[in-house]
Amino acid sequence: MRKRYGIFGGTFDPVHVGHLISAQYILTEFSLDRIIFMPAYIPPHKAGKKRLSSNHRLIMVKKAIKGNKHFTVSNFEIEKRTRSYTIHTLEHYLKESRLFLIIGDEWLNRFSDWHRWRDILGYSDLIVLRRQGLEVKIPAFLNTFKRKIHFSSNPLIQVSSSLIRQYLKQKKDIRYMVPSSVWQYIQKKELYG
Ligand code: ATP
Repeated sequence: MRKRYGIFGGTFDPVHVGHLISAQYILTEFSLDRIIFMPAYIPPHKAGKKRLSSNHRLIMVKKAIKGNKHFTVSNFEIEKRTRSYTIHTLEHYLKESRLFLIIGDEWLNRFSDWHRWRDILGYSDLIVLRRQGLEVKIPAFLNTFKRKIHFSSNPLIQVSSSLIRQYLKQKKDIRYMVPSSVWQYIQKKELYG
């Protein structure tokens, strides 16, 4: 049988416990074999925004998932050095597995903005993570894809990368919002200073 892979795209600037706890939760919830963390080189939805170099972001994800045999990180999007379109990533992984694209619920209503979004849903199911705990319904334009959209009941972890960056800028302590290995790396490299 084909393996079930979760593709977890993001900027991961930096990776935090919200990503990790949710990923661990859906691994069991949807009987996934593996979750592939996929840091974007240039996320199309955040293209104009400043972000840390892809190298630092990749290293932090590597540190964060170390020791979890169901988690891997891929540099597929980073290596391309262009805007990161999910559809190309899915095309790449489709050969080896059944795909589940993992997104936060804030993206669902805006999913039609994603490049070739219909094709994305042709290649993969969607797993939608809860972020704020608000009720999120399937928007009308996604009605025909209803069967491919799965809502997770992941625990709410109201941490975001932007909150962490803001804390760091204000010299606040971000301990426990990221794994200690990531916390140490941020300190050592004086990131987000
Ligand atoms: P930023 O605050 O900079 O916008 P972010 O915290 O949303 O970043 P991303 O790397 O953009 O982090 O997130 C990757 C994916 O993980 C997105 O689909 C996002 O919705 C989801 N995600 C991020 N934080 C959480 C969280 N705390 N709980 C569940 N899903 C999350």
